[in-house]
Amino acid sequence: MNLILLGPPGCGKGTQATYLVEKYGYVQLSTGDMLRDAIKNNTTTGKIVKDVLASGKLVDNELILQIMKDKIEETKASPGRIFDGFPRTLAQAEGLNALLSQNNLSIDLLIELVVDREELFERIQKRASESASVRDDDNADVLGKRLDVYNQETKPIISYYERDYFVNKIDGMQDIKTVNMLIDKLVASGTKQ
Ligand code: ADP
Repeated sequence: MNLILLGPPGCGKGTQATYLVEKYGYVQLSTGDMLRDAIKNNTTTGKIVKDVLASGKLVDNELILQIMKDKIEETKASPGRIFDGFPRTLAQAEGLNALLSQNNLSIDLLIELVVDREELFERIQKRASESASVRDDDNADVLGKRLDVYNQETKPIISYYERDYFVNKIDGMQDIKTVNMLIDKLVASGTKQ
């Protein structure tokens, strides 16, 4: 099962991915988490991307695709992968197609979590106020930038995918459990095929 979770920052992709990891034993491939780990461990990649993340802009497609290439190969034995926060540009979506076909894999399910802009601001502000280690990019200024980047660079990949696939839309304004259940239904019917 290869599932792509789409939707803006704060829509709940990470929360839902964690649930699927626990329930189905899938691996969560979150480029955001990978980049934050690299920064924390002060690796070469971490040094390159630190300021980019803090600004809310996107990291270079080539670097992201190199990281993903390694991850897809590392997770060959996994029963499933949840792509969370990747792909974020058309170039990444095309790169992912190439990586999957090189590994005899395909996209099995696409889900878009739909949440309005006002709610996203509230959620990120809440997350920043509750979290012990505040993310450099979880503040109103950078969130505004991240949402603009999402609308300009990431949103177009939804219509790109809609040419070849069905993109399941879920109202991400509902409570976490309801969203869990709706995603679960899609995953369960996708797994049976
Ligand atoms: P969110 O979805 O809350 O914005 P992420 O953890 O997915 O958070 O991403 C945080 C930041 O990491 C992004 O704003 C961007 O700078 C960088 N990043 C993550 N994934 C990608 C990607 N696929 N391509 C380019 N940059 C990325």
